Amino acid sequence: MKILVIEDELKTAQYLQKGLGENGYAVETCQDGALGLALAASGTFDLIILDVQLPHCDGWTILGALRQNDRKTPVLFLTGRDSVQDRVKGLELGADDYLIKPFAFSELLARTRSLLRRGQVAPLPDVLRIADIEIDPMHQRVKRAGIRLSLTQQEFALLALLARHCGEILSRTMIAEQIWNMNYDSDTNVVDVAIRRLRKKVDDPFDRRLIRSVRGVGYVLEE
Ligand code: CA
Repeated sequence: MKILVIEDELKTAQYLQKGLGENGYAVETCQDGALGLALAASGTFDLIILDVQLPHCDGWTILGALRQNDRKTPVLFLTGRDSVQDRVKGLELGADDYLIKPFAFSELLARTRSLLRRGQVAPLPDVLRIADIEIDPMHQRVKRAGIRLSLTQQEFALLALLARHCGEILSRTMIAEQIWNMNYDSDTNVVDVAIRRLRKKVDDPFDRRLIRSVRGVGYVLEE
């Protein structure tokens, strides 16, 4: 199995080459975007690990050019950018997976194995349907009764969390940890405020309320 690593940070490239090499993969590294594109287009690799910010030609361009030329080589994006838009952009351009830097090598290895096993484009995450709500995690879109709702990223994350645990009561502590990555301080009402805002968009305009408060405990999304 041959892997091409296009990464301009020498230390990261060497680290990947060593680690993947030790796991039995043949690894070629390249630190320049334009050269990387030429190598990637050669079609001789089973997987491409691709950085975004590269000299001469960025990762988006490389990926776009590959997919336009119908090269189906799986691409694992390595990105220092944590924004949802960047991840969506990568996936829309045809990346098969992404990892956000800094990453654990064990995770990179697991994803590499999984992509090589599949050898084809990953299926997109399914749309979550609860009652008349449709949640599309890939595009961060929400519809209720066929009407598109405009949610902030945080509102979306909160709704998606409730939806993934549909029917389960989620404590304020759990919600605070998952959404804000913090310990819930009972003096603050950040969770309640966020739920109120979410309800205004998701529940108030409709006949049926789906987000229910459980007194003294937390919240639950019910069918
Ligand atoms: Ca870079």
